[in-house]
Amino acid sequence: MAKMFIAGEWMESESGQVTEIRNPATGELVDTVPKGTEKDAQKAIDAAAEAYPKWSETSPEERAKVLDKAVDLINEKKQDLAVLLTKEQGKPVSESVREIDHFLHGMKFYAGLATKVRGAQVPLPEKGVYGMVLKQSIGVCGAIVPWNFPITLMGTKVGPALIAGNTVVVKPASTTPLTTLQCVEMIHRAGLPEGVLNIVTGPGSVVGEELLRNPKVRRIAFTGETKTGKHVMEIASQGIKRVTLELGGSDPMIVCDDANMKRALTGASVGRFYNCGQACLAIKRLYLFESIADEFIEQLKGKVQRLKLGNGLNEDTRVGPLHMEFQRKEVEEQVEDAKKKGAKVLIGGERPTGDEFDKGFFYLPTLLTDVPDSGRIVQEECFGPVLPIFRVKDLDEAIEKANSSSYGLGASIWTQNLARAHQAAERLQAGNVWINSLHIGYDELPFGGIKESGIGREHGPEALEYYLEPKGVVVATG
Ligand code: NAD
Repeated sequence: MAKMFIAGEWMESESGQVTEIRNPATGELVDTVPKGTEKDAQKAIDAAAEAYPKWSETSPEERAKVLDKAVDLINEKKQDLAVLLTKEQGKPVSESVREIDHFLHGMKFYAGLATKVRGAQVPLPEKGVYGMVLKQSIGVCGAIVPWNFPITLMGTKVGPALIAGNTVVVKPASTTPLTTLQCVEMIHRAGLPEGVLNIVTGPGSVVGEELLRNPKVRRIAFTGETKTGKHVMEIASQGIKRVTLELGGSDPMIVCDDANMKRALTGASVGRFYNCGQACLAIKRLYLFESIADEFIEQLKGKVQRLKLGNGLNEDTRVGPLHMEFQRKEVEEQVEDAKKKGAKVLIGGERPTGDEFDKGFFYLPTLLTDVPDSGRIVQEECFGPVLPIFRVKDLDEAIEKANSSSYGLGASIWTQNLARAHQAAERLQAGNVWINSLHIGYDELPFGGIKESGIGREHGPEALEYYLEPKGVVVATG
C-alpha cells in the first residue's frame, strides 16, 4: 500500500481507509492509497505552516539547488515512473515519458529563475522620499491537481511555489496519486526540509475542500473542470485567498485554404487524439475552409483510422483508454446527442470490440460532421477522442464560430498568409494562440485561459509572480 507524505514522513490516513487505484485499460489493481480525511489535510497544512518561516528565509540559490537535485533523482527513475503513470492514468508509455520530461524541464526552468526575481526602486513626488517594491512569498499554498496530466500539472504549481519561498500541500486527483507520491518523495530527498512539501491523497470534496477552507492556506492553485473551479473560487473568496484557476477548454482549430495540409493534418490528429483527447488544450472543434474541406477530411480519416488503440503499456499503442467509466459515458452521450441533431459519424462513434478492450474504458477515435452549433459537443467541453468538423466560408465566419464558446483557453490558425495569421491571433478570444503549430504548453510562455477557462497564468516567469506578493515600502531619507 502506498502512503501519504506529510511532514517528511509516510503516513496512513487517520481513518485507516484506503482507495484502490486501478488500471483504466484492464481494471487491474495497481495499488491502494490512504483515503485522506479533513484531519489528515489539517496535519499537512499544519506541517506546511510550521515549515514556512524557515523555508521562506532560505536563499533562492539554496532553493534552486534542491529542485536541480530533484530533477536528477527523478530523471534516473524516469522509465519506471512512466510505466507507473501509464498504469494509473492509461496513456501510452511514450506519452508518460514525455509528460515526465515536460515536468523536469519545468522544474529546471523555475530553478533557473530563482535568482532572477527583481523588485523595484520607485521615485516619489516628495524630495528625499522614494519607494521600493519588495517581492515576498505568500505562505502555505494548496496545489489541487487533475488526473489528465498529474505530473506536469503538479510541477507547474510546486516549482514556482517552492522557488518563491512558499510551502505546499499537494492534493492529487483521487485516481492518479501514485506517480505524484514518488516524485514528491524524491523532491524531498533532494534536500527539502520536512513539511515544506506535503501530499494528501483522498477525495476532492474532503481533502480539497479543507485546503479551500483552512485559514492557514493563503493561496490556491487549481486545475480542473470549470464547474469545480467556480466552487473553488467561491469558497476561497471567503478567506480572501489568492487563487489561480486553470479550467476547461473547447479549443478551435481553423484551417485556411492556403494552409500547409500535411502539417495541419498532423496538428489535427495529434492535437485531438493525444492522451485520448483528455487534454484541456486539445483541439475540440475543427473549422475548415470550404474549398479544402473534402480533401482534408478524407486524409484525416485515413490518418485517424491508423491510430492504434490499446493498452498504454503496449509499445505500439497510440491511443489508450479513457480514464474513467463515467467519463466514457459522458462522451457517448455527447455523440448520441449530436447524432440525434443530425450529425454524421465518419469513423468511430462507438466502443471497440474484442477481448483486449472488454475490461477497459475504450472508445474509438471518432470524426463527426454536420454537427449543429446547438449540439452538446459544441457547447460543452468534450473530454474524449471525438472531433466535430465544420465548414466555413472565410476567416470572419471561422473566427465568429471559434469565439462563440463560453471557453477561451486556446485556439489555432493554420495559414501561410501572414496578415491572416496576425489578424486571427488578435481576434481569437483565447489565452493562447498557435499559428501553424500544435497546441502545446511551453514552460517559457504564460499559459492560461480567458472567459470560463480560468484566471491567472501557469508557466513562464509570469507564473512565479502569482506566488509572490509585491510589498510597497516608503523610505524617507531627509
Ligand atoms: P475536477 O474538477 O473533477 O478535479 C480536479 C481536482 O479538484 C481533483 O484533484 C479533485 O479531487 C479536486 N476537487 C474536486 N472537488 C473538489 C472540491 N470540492 N474542493 C477542492 N478540490 C476538489 O477535474 P478533472 O476531471 O480531474 O480534470 C479534468 C478537467 O481539468 C477538464 O475540464 C480539463 O479541461 C481541465 N484541465 C485544465 C487545464 C488548464 O490548464 N486549463 C489543464 C488540465 C486539465
